[in-house]
Amino acid sequence: MTDKTQKKSLTILGSTGSIGRNTLDVVARFPDRYQVHALAAHSNVELLARQVEAFRPAVAAVYDPEAAQRLRERKPRGGRTAILTGMEGLVEAATAPEVHHVVAGIVGAVGLQPAYAAVAAGKEVSIANKEVMVLAGELMVNRARESGARLLPMDSEHNAVFQCLNGAAPEQVRRIVLTASGGPFRDLPLRRFPAITKEQALKHPNWSMGPKITIDSATMLNKGLEVIEARWLFGLPPERIGVLMHRQSIVHSLVEFVDGSVIAQLGLPDMRTPIACCLAHPQRLPLELPRLDLAEIGKLEFEEISQDRYPGFFLALEALRLGGGMPAALNGANEAVVAAYLDDAFPFTEIAAILKRVMDQLAAVPLAEGAPPFLRHVATVDDAVRADQFGRGLAAALIEQARGTPC
Ligand code: MG
Repeated sequence: MTDKTQKKSLTILGSTGSIGRNTLDVVARFPDRYQVHALAAHSNVELLARQVEAFRPAVAAVYDPEAAQRLRERKPRGGRTAILTGMEGLVEAATAPEVHHVVAGIVGAVGLQPAYAAVAAGKEVSIANKEVMVLAGELMVNRARESGARLLPMDSEHNAVFQCLNGAAPEQVRRIVLTASGGPFRDLPLRRFPAITKEQALKHPNWSMGPKITIDSATMLNKGLEVIEARWLFGLPPERIGVLMHRQSIVHSLVEFVDGSVIAQLGLPDMRTPIACCLAHPQRLPLELPRLDLAEIGKLEFEEISQDRYPGFFLALEALRLGGGMPAALNGANEAVVAAYLDDAFPFTEIAAILKRVMDQLAAVPLAEGAPPFLRHVATVDDAVRADQFGRGLAAALIEQARGTPC
């Protein structure tokens, strides 16, 4: 089995989510190049069991202990996979010595600790879960510098920037511009926003993604979080990160260099392309996917981001401006608010309204003196988690007030 040692060995954190499923789709096309060491999921036992049977990993980690027990009882065929659980299980999957590359695709704050552990262990880490960089971007980048870990941006926009940069140093870059599709409500008259239904909010016009990120696209808080992610991944100050609305989702992002050249990355909206780019870096995988036909698309349009339509975007920029643990706090608040929204607690417009009140409260915290230290500076993973929890706490009271607002 000499060829096996030459395969890249992968851990996929979040294998049952949208990124994980797409990653396994790419892996299945190149069985001679990749092998799966570990799959990690939150609680979707049925899908994880089928993935274990198809990819035969050495390890399956299930965050939820009861779900881990169900997986053991389900006895996936093949039978050689060790089943781990809890945060220790996720961390063990992310740091095993035989693993070369870790895909950090666990949505939300739960994904932070295993991603950080992978970075500390010096792995090549694809960042597909933007919360990791929103909660602890500075910490991640500094730790990667110390350990020699390589961070690869897997989010479509950041992967586009990464490709356009092609290794250029920050001083050669005037600015980067992330694109935003505008989500499902880009043309809906503002007066009709109060009547938006959950089904409408969950229907993204261009991308097929999980429910949380689809709602974040509709409020465009997602794009604000992506600016925060870009700030750390590319080491650029916020004023050199722009965003343009681009409804076709063909140009995934652009880089303007100091000599006036603007380089863009284009492609059909399919996550398998940025995933393949990260897995194979610096090589390219010959992926047979539908091809971009620009003549058929005809024209590419760009617009400024509307303040009235997308308040979530500007709230995230405000959190970045405040700095320290504020982005983590906003992220925690948003996770709580979106979960409540998906649970039919209140209408769509309340999401941004509640988050605005959270940001007003955060902005009133005197960062210089008296503030909790984790809000002033995120020095550890625990600080990031505490800041996230602080935001959830602020949101919880406001969610209760909003509950019962007729949907
Ligand atoms: Mg994105």
